[in-house]
Amino acid sequence: ARRRALDAATGPGRTADGHPVPLLANIGGPRDVKAALEGGAEGVGLYRTEFLFLDRTEPPTLEEQRDAYRTVLEAFPHGKVVVRTLDAGADKPLAFLPPPTAEPNPALGERGIRLFKAFPDVMSAQLRALAGAAEGMADRLQVMAPMVSTVEEAAWFVHECATRGLDSAGAMIEVPAAALRSKDLAGVVDFFSIGTNDLAQYAFAADRQVGALVALQDPWQPALLDLIAAAVGDHGVPCGVCGEAAADPALACVLVGLGVATLSMSAPALPAVRAGLARHSLAQCRTAAAAARGHVTAQAARNAARAELPGLA
Ligand code: PEP
Ligand code: MG
Repeated sequence: ARRRALDAATGPGRTADGHPVPLLANIGGPRDVKAALEGGAEGVGLYRTEFLFLDRTEPPTLEEQRDAYRTVLEAFPHGKVVVRTLDAGADKPLAFLPPPTAEPNPALGERGIRLFKAFPDVMSAQLRALAGAAEGMADRLQVMAPMVSTVEEAAWFVHECATRGLDSAGAMIEVPAAALRSKDLAGVVDFFSIGTNDLAQYAFAADRQVGALVALQDPWQPALLDLIAAAVGDHGVPCGVCGEAAADPALACVLVGLGVATLSMSAPALPAVRAGLARHSLAQCRTAAAAARGHVTAQAARNAARAELPGLA
């Protein structure tokens, strides 16, 4: 009983009937590793590398990058580490990497993988630093690109990774076009990770930084649930979620019910999500997902799902 209580507090994520759901941490760099380990993270599901590049006039050197990536890989000797390549632009502007042309709508501009493509030196240095960091641990490193919207972009990214010896390359699904055509993307990438923050922003045409539009950023919005279901699909490519939605214990169960394989969140959210999963079977998660999707407002979807998840506080 003591062992079970301990497992429920920090052990691997799983449903009440033993379906494994690895619980991973969102981190911004080595300084977040301690909290992730304390929360019982089984690995890193989103390493936001842009924090290494912020507040500087020159990009970090290859060595500096390699050391940061290696520190994180070494901190999780048994877990995978999903590193997101530079997601600059829009809400994450970088002083030394301005978009090539003036942009009236930065969220719709040259950001994420688009900017990465426009600056081949920066791209190449980051991928080489990642390959160097993973020496001897290459099986645990997964690299993913932000803001992928077409299959050509995904194929380009996979090729650039493979050229540098990075064998596991994935795409974030955070643009509705990518969610709708996830079947095509599944033909070229190794995994998906849904970024619900940007997916909601682009699905509802609602700037994620505008507080007045918070209701349109509600991850229980039925249209967002539909896009998540479309992204997961049935194409056999593992799909995680790394946006804020994964941190809501009820929604985490719904995501598992939709077929999401892993959940990544900020460290403080891990214990409650782990406990919520442990109290519900996979069948209950599926029932909750179907209940949520049968409603037409975010509030009704949330209430319907919660009614199927009696183990939540
Ligand atoms: C997201 O968009 O949901 C996401 C996880 O990435 P970020 O919040 O860093 O844009
Ligand atoms: Mg994003």
